[in-house]
Amino acid sequence: RKPPSRKGSMADVPKDLLQEIKRLEEMFSVDTAKLKSITEHFVKELTKGLTVEGGSIPMNPTWCMAFPTGYETGTFLALDMGGTNLRVCEIILTDEKSEFDIIQSKYRMPEELKSGSADELWEYIADCLQQFIESHHGTKSLEKLPLGFTFSYPATQDYIDHGVLQRWTKGFDIDGVEGHNVVPMFEAAVAKRGVPIKLTALINDTTGTLIASAYTDTKMKIGCIFGTGCNAAYMEDCGSIPKLAHMNLPPDTPMAINCEWGAFDNEHLVLPRTPYDIIIDKDSPRPGQQAFEKMIAGLYLGELFRLVLVDLHDNKDVHIFEGQNIDKLRRAYTLDSSFLSMVEEDPFENLSETGDLFQNKLGITATHPELELIRRLAELIGTRAARLSSCGVAAIAKKKGYKTCHVGADGSVFNKYPHFKQRGAQALREILDWAPKKSSKEEDPIEILAAEDGSGVGAALIAALTLKRVKEGNM
Ligand code: BGC
Ligand code: MG
Repeated sequence: RKPPSRKGSMADVPKDLLQEIKRLEEMFSVDTAKLKSITEHFVKELTKGLTVEGGSIPMNPTWCMAFPTGYETGTFLALDMGGTNLRVCEIILTDEKSEFDIIQSKYRMPEELKSGSADELWEYIADCLQQFIESHHGTKSLEKLPLGFTFSYPATQDYIDHGVLQRWTKGFDIDGVEGHNVVPMFEAAVAKRGVPIKLTALINDTTGTLIASAYTDTKMKIGCIFGTGCNAAYMEDCGSIPKLAHMNLPPDTPMAINCEWGAFDNEHLVLPRTPYDIIIDKDSPRPGQQAFEKMIAGLYLGELFRLVLVDLHDNKDVHIFEGQNIDKLRRAYTLDSSFLSMVEEDPFENLSETGDLFQNKLGITATHPELELIRRLAELIGTRAARLSSCGVAAIAKKKGYKTCHVGADGSVFNKYPHFKQRGAQALREILDWAPKKSSKEEDPIEILAAEDGSGVGAALIAALTLKRVKEGNM
């Protein structure tokens, strides 16, 4: 849907709210010059992350060492542990080039699990896997199926079926996993149930996205996730990864790097953080971590919005929701990014849908001027997220010298948040100084496009590529 023109609708907004809107606009806007300076710093940090000393961005080698040819075949399982759901898939890479069949089941990750014990987590995962296999293959014993485990958290990998969790992200807080190799924990829970699988590859959702997208489009050079969390992967040459020099790999060997760019600017040098970003960080289970992610990812967008509204209400000089009970709004993380999406999607000049949302979800009766402020605030938070995320894309393209390529993107924010794609594309044009497109059919030199399913098909492909590499005797 085209963004409705909201011109003229500010007529009844009183001076104090107008002033507040202006202040928020200044606080949340990121102009072209700032985008460019963030990108410059980002390029340096990507490079630093590949050195032995390292930097704030982990730049994790993934041991996924080839793009697919499109001729991969076989049957694979994929287990996708994202921030919100758990998904089990069976993927058949068919004989036909770049084609696949997939069946899948989704299970919700119970909220308690995210701060529960490690045992509960692995038991839950193994139960889902067992359920899936029993319902699709019965209990008859079969040959162990190769499985790609999409574990979308930062992990140090010494080889592809190994991964030491560096730290939990996306609000997870489970004791006894950080600093440990997650593969044996997973395998023990699975073995206890006699589930016939063999973990072939541990992968990140971004690497999966990169590989799945390249399976059907060879112009794909970067894989991104803009979902509950935010991150990207791309293919590096081993010769440009000083921290792998001890492996003596030929310098032109490709190696997919899971950037973990959510950690960009953890030292707070360039990102335009607001007081609300600082509160989000302080109150999170991992303060000081994921500075970039906390300004962009779906987990935090609704919370930022909520924090601003509560602050304005509590500020005596600003008159908003006066005399109303805002207890429900005071509850942390009560609004998710789909709430913000709905506010931005309200097509009506009088914002009546937003009014209904506030009434029904929060018990707040908002006046028309208040609704105008609410709408503008949602636009500012959504726009800032899209513009900042393009700095990361531009930085990888600059580092690799990609003048033109496709970027495969997935995740709830990319797929569902209104105008996210257009705003991101606009920011990329500003950062990289492209001339405006002559027609809407024309492509930008670098286009961010909807990716293939990285955590399912991508995991299967990486498992297939791994088996091929092992068979050929290459490590
Ligand atoms: C994780 C990444 C992941 C991203 C998107 C981040 O919080 O650290 O590993 O790729 O979320 O799911
Ligand atoms: Mg996912």
